This record gives sequence, C-alpha cells and structure tokens, in this order.
Amino acid sequence: MINPGSWLGILGGGQLGRMFTTAAQTMGYKVAVLDPDEGSPAGRVAEKHIVAQYDDHSALSELTRLTKVITTEFENVPAESLSLLAASVATRPNAEAVAVAQDRILEKTFLSECGVAVAPFEALTDQNDIRDSELSTLLPGILKASRFGYDGKGQRSVQTVEEAREAYAELGKVPCVLEKRLPLKTEISVVVGRNVQGLTEIFPIAENQHRNGILDLSIVPARISRDLASEAESVAIHIARELNYCGVLCVEFFVLENDELVVNEIAPRPHNSGHYTIDACSLSQFEQQVRILAELPLGHPTLSSPAVMYNILGDLWKAGEPNWEEVVRRNDVKLHLYGKNAPRPGRKMGHITALDRDCDQAIKTILEIKQVLEA
Ligand code: ADP
Ligand code: MG
Repeated sequence: MINPGSWLGILGGGQLGRMFTTAAQTMGYKVAVLDPDEGSPAGRVAEKHIVAQYDDHSALSELTRLTKVITTEFENVPAESLSLLAASVATRPNAEAVAVAQDRILEKTFLSECGVAVAPFEALTDQNDIRDSELSTLLPGILKASRFGYDGKGQRSVQTVEEAREAYAELGKVPCVLEKRLPLKTEISVVVGRNVQGLTEIFPIAENQHRNGILDLSIVPARISRDLASEAESVAIHIARELNYCGVLCVEFFVLENDELVVNEIAPRPHNSGHYTIDACSLSQFEQQVRILAELPLGHPTLSSPAVMYNILGDLWKAGEPNWEEVVRRNDVKLHLYGKNAPRPGRKMGHITALDRDCDQAIKTILEIKQVLEA
C-alpha cells in the first residue's frame, strides 16, 4: 500500500481530475496533474501541475520521478503515453484497457467478443465501405466517429445510405461506426471499482437522461427491476475482468423497450453519472479511485439517500451569473462548481445533487431549480 503523504499522479486536469484530487488530498495524499491547460480545474487545486502535452516525454518522466502510481481522468490520453509510463511506474487502468475504451471500433469489437450485447454496427474505415446492401439493415442509424467523440460530438443521425455517405464526409472521412438506432426505454450506468487483487465493488445504478447528447440528469436508484439491475452489474464486472481492469470503470447501458440490456459504451475512469456518489454514498467514485490507486482496501459503497444529479452547462450564463442563491438556500441540495473560467454553451461547468427520501421528491426539487436557473 502507498501511504498517505505520498504522491499520486493523474493524466488530465478536468473536473474528474479535480474531484479525484480533492478526494486524494482529503486522505492526505499529494497529487501531481499533467494537463496542457494552465487553468485546468485539477491543476489549480493539485500540489503540482505539470503544464505540458500528454506525449511530452520530459513531462512524463517528471511525473514518474514524483510518483509510483498514475491514473487517468479522460480516455483520449494517448495510450502510448500510458505504455511509456508503465515501463517505470504502475498505471491504473492499464494502457490496453484505455486503448479499447478510446476507440469505438475496438470497443464494440472487444465487447462483442466478450459475449456482451452491443447495438448492431459496422466499422467504416473507407468511403467504399458505405454500400447499400450491407448497411441498409443498420438504418435508421447513427454514424459515430470512432475516436475523440464525447457529449454527442462527432455523431450524425442518418436515415439513408446517401445520408451516411454525406455524414462520413462531414466527419472528415475518419474511421467511424455506423450503429443501428435502437428503441430506448431508458439508459443506465454502472460504476465498478476493481482493485489489483481483482476484487470488485459496484456503486448503486444510475438512470440517465440526456439532452442534446449531453447528460442532463442522473436519478438514483435507477427505476428498473431487481433482475435487470443484477444483470447490468454482472455485465459490468465481466467487462472489468475481461479488460484485466484496475481502477474505476463506467459501463453505460441502453435498456430497450423489450427490457433487453445493451452496452452503449465504457469509460475507463469515474463518470459524470457517478457524481451523485460524492453526496449520496458512503464513499465517492473518486475516493474509490484513490483507494485502488494507492492499494488501500476497496470501499463498499452504500447509498445514504436517493439522489438526483443535474449537470450545470455553460448555457446557464447567457444572461450573466446564474442565481446560485436560489440553489444554496435549500438544505436538501449540494452545489458543485469546477472553477472553469469560460462558460461556453454545452460546456460542463458544475453539477447539483438533490437528496431526498425518495427520488420523486428529489426530481421535483431539481425541476424547480432548473426552472429558476434556465429561465
Ligand atoms: P458520447 O460518447 O457522446 O456519450 P454515445 O454513443 O454515448 O456518445 O451517445 C450519446 C447518446 O446518444 C446516448 O446516451 C443515447 O442517448 C443516444 N444514442 C447513442 N447511440 C444510440 C443508439 N444506437 N440508439 C439510440 N440512441 C443512441
Ligand atoms: Mg455516452
């Protein structure tokens, strides 16, 4: 075990890195963040911020001089950098797992090979791959760039082969997947922690509602049957094991209208839909990440209160600073802001968690808050 007082390293300085840093510092660790942005949310709170690109070799070796263990907070960190680090320190998760999660073609292929249900898809790596006969069964569908997409970016809804061809050109003719549009009843996510010994712990399942491709609300506990919940948990654990995963992993699922469970995507890090764990669980997903990184005993998460998390996007600043007073005057509500300067539309600036005796009450609170903030 790595004792408190030691350094932990993280690639990426966004809000996930910031919440990791705070959790690590609470337990007495020092944190070194590598992020090219001087004003990054995590860089501002960490003991050390190395301002450099993720593939900068001297920055990577500076990190390895400080710490024996390094994690990551976003999947687009070059998997090669993780491999390079792995030569001298422990990287959790491993570079292979991150490589799978950062590329939709690899991800969907890997999941299918593990026997996990995914949406019917076809990998498109060349204009010539877009042929009527093979693709018509996937329409209407969604064309998704294989890499660097997030919050609905790098995706186009397509009805016909012609539209698929146009969308492929619009996305820059990069490798893509064409995925069949499925009839969704709801979406859920499972956050699982898996440690060096291969032991796992699961956080309560979140039910997720998106708006314009971006997570809007997470409702916990998810309003699904016990059977569906256990199935989702076993699939998440199965995926973590197959990836030989060490760290916190999120598995996003579609629940289809016929109650079939299909994996949408995986994230090799804590997840936006797990932010509620900070205020509503016996330990947060970030504390679990710290525990796994430092080889402390894995925490067993329990839900202290039903919760609803609402994402605060930059759109709320269109008429100046939002009315936070209306939020913080309620004592059943927690406000989190990430210290970002530029509130651009669609940018995640913070989140609010409402706690209550049941999720219907918490939903009601959040709807009232939304009405005030989005007015
Ligand atoms: P991102 O990486 O941007 O989160 P996702 O692949 O998770 O991209 O897609 C974002 C959202 O779009 C999903 O959460 C879901 O609401 C919707 N979506 C994506 N793929 C499908 C699909 N095959 N069928 C129906 N809805 C989908
Ligand atoms: Mg997603």
